[in-house]
Amino acid sequence: MKITMAHGSGGQETERLIREVFAARYDNAVLHEMGDAAAVPGAERLALTTDSFVVTPLVFPGGDIGKLAVCGTVNDLLMRGAVPKYLTAGFVIEAGTEIREVELAAASMAETAAEAGTMIVAGDTKVVENAHPEGGLIINTTGVGFLKPDVEISPAQIRPGDAILLSGCLGDHHAAILSARMKLKNQIRSDVSLLTEPVSILLGARLGIHAMRDVTRGGLATILNEFAQQAGRGILLREPDIPVRQEVRDLCGLLGLDPLTMGNEGKFVAAVAAEDADQALKLVRDTACGRDAALIGIVEESGEATVKIRTAIGGSRVILPLIGEGLPRIC
Ligand code: MG
Repeated sequence: MKITMAHGSGGQETERLIREVFAARYDNAVLHEMGDAAAVPGAERLALTTDSFVVTPLVFPGGDIGKLAVCGTVNDLLMRGAVPKYLTAGFVIEAGTEIREVELAAASMAETAAEAGTMIVAGDTKVVENAHPEGGLIINTTGVGFLKPDVEISPAQIRPGDAILLSGCLGDHHAAILSARMKLKNQIRSDVSLLTEPVSILLGARLGIHAMRDVTRGGLATILNEFAQQAGRGILLREPDIPVRQEVRDLCGLLGLDPLTMGNEGKFVAAVAAEDADQALKLVRDTACGRDAALIGIVEESGEATVKIRTAIGGSRVILPLIGEGLPRIC
């Protein structure tokens, strides 16, 4: 029997084709429902997040917009203690963009999504009028993760005495994007990466992880100010303990930037119960993306809900969140 136009009509022949040729071979409970949207097995609690990615250039030292679009969303799910499961991908493409650039981003997304143990299950594409001579690409990803009933990780859980754990050096992504745009020659690479390994190891060890945030736009200063506000406690940092690569430090000195307000795409900060802090640090340091992890401060027993930093020579100053415009199109 040959395929005829009638098999594409949406009528009886189409139904029979789907049932006998496809469904018979792919049969599973989800497909059996034959709906306009797949209903997939879920969990009692879901974590949901969404983010849009507008980085320029699309490919940069250490990564590209596709990898960034998956890492950013997956990492946000991980920070809530969820297991990332499903992603959607929306592409807004300017006319004039090289198809090759879109293909590179799509391939990078697929690879990173697989590495994260997630599936891209829905998508959308829109083409808009050309606004930049070189074209342009914006990617939105939405992520769904499963959350165990007993996992409660949020800034509201922060307790006095908690240690502040930082998973690695500050400023790498921001400095890499800036260097690429300014055509500076250096060895700085973006830290864009999945935080799956350190987070799953920490959660698996059942340590007192009270809050986690990935240190993205706004930097450590902004996130710790939010922690302090939500916990209603002060946070005291030890400046010499905060890891920053020398080359990033030098670039910051040259341009008058502060690594504390610079964006990263593969670092997180956690508030950890004091008695578990050393063990948590050891576990994170044993992972590929956590070798430079450090305990950088504590949540104070009392005092105002501000962030202070103690310098190497014993002085202290208040750390404010990022105010005004940071570098645009960084993530
Ligand atoms: Mg985040």
